Amino acid sequence: MHPILKVLYHIAMGAIGKKSYRFPMGVYIYLTFRCNLRCSYCDGGSGEKFPLMKRSELSIEQWRSIFTTLHKHTDFLLLSGGEPLMYEKIIDILRVARETGFKFISLNTNGLLLTPEVIEAVDAIIISLDSLDREKSDRLWNREGATDRVLKVLVELAQRRNPSIMVNSVILNENIDDVADVMEFCGKHGITFSAGPALDKVRPIPGLKGNRRYHALIDKILKAKRAGYRIAATIDYLRAVKHFQPFDCHPLLVWRVYPDGNLLFPCSRMNSTAGNLLETPDPIALFKKASGGEYFEINCGENCPLSCYMDTSHMIHRPLGLLREGLYRMHTFSQGHRLVY
Ligand code: SF4
Ligand code: SF4
Repeated sequence: MHPILKVLYHIAMGAIGKKSYRFPMGVYIYLTFRCNLRCSYCDGGSGEKFPLMKRSELSIEQWRSIFTTLHKHTDFLLLSGGEPLMYEKIIDILRVARETGFKFISLNTNGLLLTPEVIEAVDAIIISLDSLDREKSDRLWNREGATDRVLKVLVELAQRRNPSIMVNSVILNENIDDVADVMEFCGKHGITFSAGPALDKVRPIPGLKGNRRYHALIDKILKAKRAGYRIAATIDYLRAVKHFQPFDCHPLLVWRVYPDGNLLFPCSRMNSTAGNLLETPDPIALFKKASGGEYFEINCGENCPLSCYMDTSHMIHRPLGLLREGLYRMHTFSQGHRLVY
């Protein structure tokens, strides 16, 4: 189904108070939980850092089988981790994903292990950068020299037409005053920018709520977006995340699969699965069993301020905001810009 029809379907379902696990906008693969960094704020969702979350990993042929299953439901594949480039046969994974038919492949990475082959093989790359202050950023990432390397990689990538590049900043108490500098760096190099608060499990980290400096930062990002900067986070998301407003979460607009092939239900934050896609290569059957019917309900009582949940949920519950975002993106596209999301 065309992505626009999928959005309309979910908007219609939302209007009658239903949430459907069918017709995902994309599928998010946690290829591995291993990582070559040890960021102070890393949180796999349940409070544990990704590199400490042990899971078996699948072979290329096992992923081929899962990709074939998933591609029946979406053309959009989002590869992440941990650090997905720690998966030794990443090039084979990218080749298999293309052979399976995925039309858009994006990669979430810390950028340290990027190679020309990987860069050629993907449509979009999302790289983390939390501060331009090399010393502070290296401290946050627990790796000396990492920030300098990532900045050089970004400047090189910015020269290319493809893939599209986005920088994502995690907002912490330590870097509130640095994130706007990262945004300016992105503006200068023509890179799409986004930012969101760090989480402690399902809650924003202590110190951000009610923090004036945090509010001022969000206002600055909103102002830059209105001024035509390429900022992926929507206006609705930025407004909501400023005060951590509650929202009606729809976590299955994008499906998520763990390194061992387990299909998440409902979300990474609750760390529970519907079953394994190798054992049951039928995600709809798994979701139906997990939810007990054609639709599902979420009563988690949380408001995870993560753009990948909050922003996508807003998009279907606030069609006018979606329209505004569409117009904004058409405008930025018309200026020769590319957005990643
Ligand atoms: S790069 Fe990502 S996965 Fe790795 S330690 Fe940092 S936050 Fe965690
Ligand atoms: S708000 Fe959404 S992402 Fe967070 S725990 Fe609830 S269902 Fe999961």
